[in-house]
Amino acid sequence: MDENLAYGDDYKFIPATSIESGTGTEVLPDLYCYTIQIVNIVLIGNPENEEFVLIDAGMPYSAEKIISEVEKRFGVGKRPKAILLTHGHFDHVGAIVELINHWDIPVYAHKLELPFLTGKKRYPNPDPTVEGGMVSKVSPIFPIDPIELGDRVSALPEDGNVPYLPKFRWIHTPGHSPGHVSFFREEDRALIVGDAFVTVKQEYLYKVLTQEKEISGPPRYLTPDWSAAWRSVKKLAALNPTVAITGHGQPMSGQELADNLKKLAKEFDEIAIPSYGKYVN
Ligand SMILES: [Zn+2]
Ligand SMILES: [Zn+2]
Repeated sequence: MDENLAYGDDYKFIPATSIESGTGTEVLPDLYCYTIQIVNIVLIGNPENEEFVLIDAGMPYSAEKIISEVEKRFGVGKRPKAILLTHGHFDHVGAIVELINHWDIPVYAHKLELPFLTGKKRYPNPDPTVEGGMVSKVSPIFPIDPIELGDRVSALPEDGNVPYLPKFRWIHTPGHSPGHVSFFREEDRALIVGDAFVTVKQEYLYKVLTQEKEISGPPRYLTPDWSAAWRSVKKLAALNPTVAITGHGQPMSGQELADNLKKLAKEFDEIAIPSYGKYVN
């Protein structure tokens, strides 16, 4: 066990879940999306292959679930080559300390996200006053203190390459957090979005519970820079993805994705940006 790794002081179990919790979807033969309570992790790699990576690290106290899901898909004792983070919010790094200790593997994130992962900087306070939803109202309970991954976390390569995934490149999609990234594979236009946009209205408890599919901007209560968030969605829409796995909500593909993403990129001010809140001007 690495004694230098730690969660923040405000780390805690978050009692929120959805009907999709515990369900896995094979979106493509080498793209597997698994829902933990209210957030998705993604396994990239063919089950017949030794090499695979994990995108994001789930909710607090979900390490056992993640390990057993990995072993179910890839075989007992198998471990990913690395954990790649779309960003460092609590619901994407919730089990990371136990996972690093269990698998002894490296973590990669955008360099602007590193301060939040190496004990240096806390995320801005969630905004309970933002327009919309019970999840926003309770968001002050969400952990925002930095976690400490020490030298286990490194910056993604500057040139856009993604470690262990030669066909992917990372795309900087800030707004929801400064070092937020998405992962894109040109060959089949597969996109791992993170929270740059999501397919469920994450602010609304009922919609989170039922996972009703509806394109939406990044979760409002934790998004401090809305103009950057809009530019990021335009950048992703311009890639014309054929399939998108988002950090929250169900995967979206084909014409449904094309139409919805185009609409979101165009009407982001109507659909995504709240009409009031601490981070709206
Ligand atoms: Zn987030
Ligand atoms: Zn999230």
